[in-house]
Amino acid sequence: MKIAVCLKQVPDTANLELDPETNTLKRDGAKAVLNPLDDFPLEAAIQLKKLTGGTVTAFTMGPPQAAQVLKRAIAMGADDAVLLTAREFAGADTWATSLTLAKAIEKHGPFQLILCGKQATDGDTAQVGPGIAEHLNIPQVTYVVKVVPESDGTLMVSRMLDTGTAVLKVKTPALLTILKEANEPGFPSIDNYINALDHAPIVENAQSLNLDPADIGLQGSPTKVAKIAVPKNDRKRVLIDEKPELAAQALLKAIQENQ
Ligand SMILES: Cc1cc2nc3c(=O)[nH]c(=O)nc-3n(C[C@H](O)[C@H](O)[C@H](O)COP(=O)(O)OP(=O)(O)OC[C@H]3O[C@@H](n4cnc5c(N)ncnc54)[C@H](O)[C@@H]3O)c2cc1C
Repeated sequence: MKIAVCLKQVPDTANLELDPETNTLKRDGAKAVLNPLDDFPLEAAIQLKKLTGGTVTAFTMGPPQAAQVLKRAIAMGADDAVLLTAREFAGADTWATSLTLAKAIEKHGPFQLILCGKQATDGDTAQVGPGIAEHLNIPQVTYVVKVVPESDGTLMVSRMLDTGTAVLKVKTPALLTILKEANEPGFPSIDNYINALDHAPIVENAQSLNLDPADIGLQGSPTKVAKIAVPKNDRKRVLIDEKPELAAQALLKAIQENQ
């Protein structure tokens, strides 16, 4: 099976910085890590490759430093890696991001299976996976916890629901978003780790993907962040330093006075 896996590099949450002019995250130069929830689609892709044969290709869209997450994919056992990087991609919302990823997946395909994480820890929308499926016009299954390849080429896919698990028979090509409950990511083998050190990804930009600048990046994004601000905290903090009974009475009085 030819599998694509989408991996996002996200800012280390301890070091978030916003551009006050554009209201977007400052990604260049920021310390960055693989989106923690993307370890699980990557592991699922590697496990499926072991079961069915084929290849795994990792895709990421981001600044040049996003290539680091692709090295990690190669170290884990992916065969190829594609980096989508260009000034014109900057400021993309989920629509423009999923369109750009879909175009690259189409160019390097056809893929039977496309795997994404549930959501990214920065944007946090969980829209990009479903968006890619829409742009490619293929079925999608979200909240996936188990994927079993069948002998007839279909997949038995278990999907987590609030009240239990739904098991679906899925024809490929399809896109799945994988939950952390699906697997326990392993470690790179020494050979793959050494491979990854010198690995250079295929690099794509707007021109090479034949994308119109009007459809990508900030220009191609139908949604815009109007304002981002740290909420003001005007609450007064009152410490009631009394024995429990007196503290309860004082608390009740304070609540009644402030109703
Ligand atoms: C209304 C709105 C406006 C926005 N405007 C801007 C803006 O102006 N400028 C800006 O910089 N950002 C903007 N963003 C954030 C931007 O949309 C996201 O960074 C990006 O589209 C990915 O969405 P997400 O982080 O929510 O990913 P999710 O949808 O939560 O990610 C789900 C999965 O999709 C895959 N995935 C997501 N992104 C990538 C990627 N880049 N490469 C590979 N795989 C990926 C991963 O498998 C991931 O686990 C905006 C978001 C919203 C909701």
